Amino acid sequence: MAKWVYLFKEGKADMKNLLGGKGANLAEMTNLGLPIPQGFTVTTEACTDYYNNNKTISDEIKGQIFDALKILEEEQGKKFGDTENPLLVSVRSGARASMPGMMDTILNLGLNDVAVEGFAKKTGNSRFAYDSYRRFIQMFSDVVMEISKSKFERVLDEIKEKKGVHYDNELTAEDLKDVITQFKALYKEEKGTEFPQEPTEQLIEAVTAVFRSWDNPRAIYYRRMNDIPGDWGTAVNVQAMVFGNMGDTSGTGVAFTRNPSTGEAKIYGEYLINAQGEDVVAGIRTPQPITKLHEDMPEVFDEFMRIATLLEDHYKDMQDMEFTIEDKKLYFLQTRNGKRTAAAALKIACDLVDEGKITKEEAVKRIEAKSLDQLLHPAFDQVALKAAKPIGSALPASPGAAAGRVYFTADEAKEHHEKGERVVLVRLETSPEDIEGMHASEGILTVRGGMTSHAAVVARGMGTCCVSGCGDIKINEEAKYFTLGGETIKEGEYISLDGSTGKIYVGDLPTEEASISGNFDRLMQWADEIRTLKVRTNADTPEDAANAVKFGAEGIGLCRTEHMFFNEDRIPKIRKMILSKTVEAREAALEELIPFQKGDFKGIYEAMEGRPVTIRFLDPPLHEFVPTNEEDIKELAEDMGLTVEEVKATCDSLHEFNPMMGHRGCRLAVTYPEIAKMQTRAVMEAAIEVKNEKGYDIVPEIMIPLVGEKRELKFVKDVVVETAEKVIAEYGSDIKYMVGTMIEIPRACLLANEIAEEAEFFSFGTNDLTQMTFGFSRDDAGKFLDSYYSNKIYESDPFARLDQEGVGQLVQMAAEKGRATSPKLKLGICGEHGGDPSTIEFCHKVGLNYVSCSPYRVPIARLAAAQAVLNQAK
Ligand code: ADP
Ligand code: MG
Ligand code: MG
Repeated sequence: MAKWVYLFKEGKADMKNLLGGKGANLAEMTNLGLPIPQGFTVTTEACTDYYNNNKTISDEIKGQIFDALKILEEEQGKKFGDTENPLLVSVRSGARASMPGMMDTILNLGLNDVAVEGFAKKTGNSRFAYDSYRRFIQMFSDVVMEISKSKFERVLDEIKEKKGVHYDNELTAEDLKDVITQFKALYKEEKGTEFPQEPTEQLIEAVTAVFRSWDNPRAIYYRRMNDIPGDWGTAVNVQAMVFGNMGDTSGTGVAFTRNPSTGEAKIYGEYLINAQGEDVVAGIRTPQPITKLHEDMPEVFDEFMRIATLLEDHYKDMQDMEFTIEDKKLYFLQTRNGKRTAAAALKIACDLVDEGKITKEEAVKRIEAKSLDQLLHPAFDQVALKAAKPIGSALPASPGAAAGRVYFTADEAKEHHEKGERVVLVRLETSPEDIEGMHASEGILTVRGGMTSHAAVVARGMGTCCVSGCGDIKINEEAKYFTLGGETIKEGEYISLDGSTGKIYVGDLPTEEASISGNFDRLMQWADEIRTLKVRTNADTPEDAANAVKFGAEGIGLCRTEHMFFNEDRIPKIRKMILSKTVEAREAALEELIPFQKGDFKGIYEAMEGRPVTIRFLDPPLHEFVPTNEEDIKELAEDMGLTVEEVKATCDSLHEFNPMMGHRGCRLAVTYPEIAKMQTRAVMEAAIEVKNEKGYDIVPEIMIPLVGEKRELKFVKDVVVETAEKVIAEYGSDIKYMVGTMIEIPRACLLANEIAEEAEFFSFGTNDLTQMTFGFSRDDAGKFLDSYYSNKIYESDPFARLDQEGVGQLVQMAAEKGRATSPKLKLGICGEHGGDPSTIEFCHKVGLNYVSCSPYRVPIARLAAAQAVLNQAK
């Protein structure tokens, strides 16, 4: 028979997977001889069993719960459901990874109309007994029966008002009796039945509710944001109650062994006299700082400090603890490695190394890679943020905090930025034309688009805050306002965006600049010593490149050349090229572009100081460049000696039904080899000149996008090689160069062994590879993916976190097939996934040489790459 239930004394800390974090630590603390109210844990496997059995708890599991309950009764010398001296328990959720506040807990379970009288008599404190019962009714109704908490709060508020008191601890026993009567009436009104009186029924219902809460929407969301798999399940802890609400010698509190926002090595916490459970954090009364306990109850404080120190030394990490004092006796109810800000995490890790408690490797493992984002971007003032109410939320596409005046076009954003205003650009979606306006903005908000939409990718590259895909927004472009969450925001009015949470606020919330400390450099250095994966960046301008180098980038993995064409002085030329009817005319137009491209590349080579640079040739469909407004069309027509109608007709002919699968990528170079020729010339001339001028040992890496067939790559490569050799001869240079390809079409993965015959490197373009493999567009998927999450079809956004089972299989296959042909083949990833820690771990496992990500994610990638090594060694 499987074991579904463990007494606390049967478990230990390393049984987290089975007992959940809370259960494993309660067991560990029990075995350390600490004052822990006893109880037992129903395992995460029981939760999985519950879901596998059509959401029912099997009789076998119920049987083991009742057996454990019997042992607990004997230990406590009390009986569950007893009318004179009832055993009361809490029923607490606890998953493997802590998910604070995501699931539910019920306290004082076991009380009913009769037991509450016995409880009052036994404790000689009827106020306390009724207080416990009313809390239980409310929690049970909320958690198990899903009757909204606020309905009960309203009843309580009415009674407080009637009695002329402020706080619930001022209510008398008689008042509380009144509360209970009304609570029960409310329950009956909502459910049509009496409040359940049978304690065993209460218990099984409560355990079921905890299992059920694993799948509540906020838990699903939290898991997606924190990479927690949906099949882990939660454990349930059933624990004898201790009471902090017994009077003025009782209380409850939470504390951290070090400060969780700064990392300062000093006890930090709060407690509340005569209170229970969440009262401290719920803010119903103002709690006391933990140091005040030293005055109130010195012995209790000393004992508390002794245990807190012991726990930190035992776990070798900052602890987040819950405790309760019942009539001057101290109990611990929980300990876990505390959540902390990134700044605190760095300080604590470095301090623990200095204190000789952990190794550098452990320190590196301790920091959550994603959290480094916080250090590199501005954040909202915490107090202001707490007070503000969001009017909506969408995808947290690029982290940071931004506040500014709303403008609806890139031009207006730019114009007002130049006047010295802080601006936020609000668009249906962005396109490459908006780039300057995006640069001018503090933040970007879009109605459409997912985590890899244009807005998201570009904003991350620039380190600009972006919230994308807010479908609830209605923009009225003509009248220049938008509505969201019942608010109307006009052009020029302030909004604030939190790119780390996706929340949108009205008004101008104050922000705080990012600050990097010495601890950051120390930790990064340790990470660099450990990692084997190289970290490159995706950068299209010398500024972005220089910025990335500052963050530790070792090269450029993806330089997108198309962005260079959108500047005002260049776009007419590329348009001329597109509209040209003959090869000669096209070549002439391209000729004019060479100086610009070459200048860009020189700037980038200089910024990179000899580090490797991969340059991707033109990728987007040409229609993205064609003019759309009358004025531009007229100008172009004049410039080319054509009529407006002729220009319009050519533009229309470029229209494609499915441009992402249309005339783009290397297909452009197959139809117009002159484009590849021009780009090769620009790359080679720039590299040779910078090499000669600065002495950097530059080996340009030319990357052909969207290849699906060896002969296709060979065709373009031949053009590149012929041109490159010509340039080399012209300069009399001895420069080396490489030609490789992006792997972003499933067919290229299947035939990677053949493609490798023509490629010197592969770079996995996992944005396109993901959309081609799933068969849905990265720009539209946001519209339906939410239904996939809530129905548990997909757990996470495949554009943010690589789908390792599917897309990952293609990556691995292509890597193996490619290396089989060409053992020295250099392999990298340049999709947005390159900055995602779980994907980086995957890249390390399949043996890629480097990952490439936006500049601000470079530190995250360095850390994640080191963690991948440490996790594999484990
Ligand atoms: P969460 O995971 O949301 O913190 P918990 O299960 O830790 O939920 O419980 C919520 C609150 O109830 C905490 O303050 C905890 O200390 C308190 N609590 C839980 N079980 C007991 C108990 N047996 N006796 C007294 N207080 C308890
Ligand atoms: Mg807790
Ligand atoms: Mg692509």
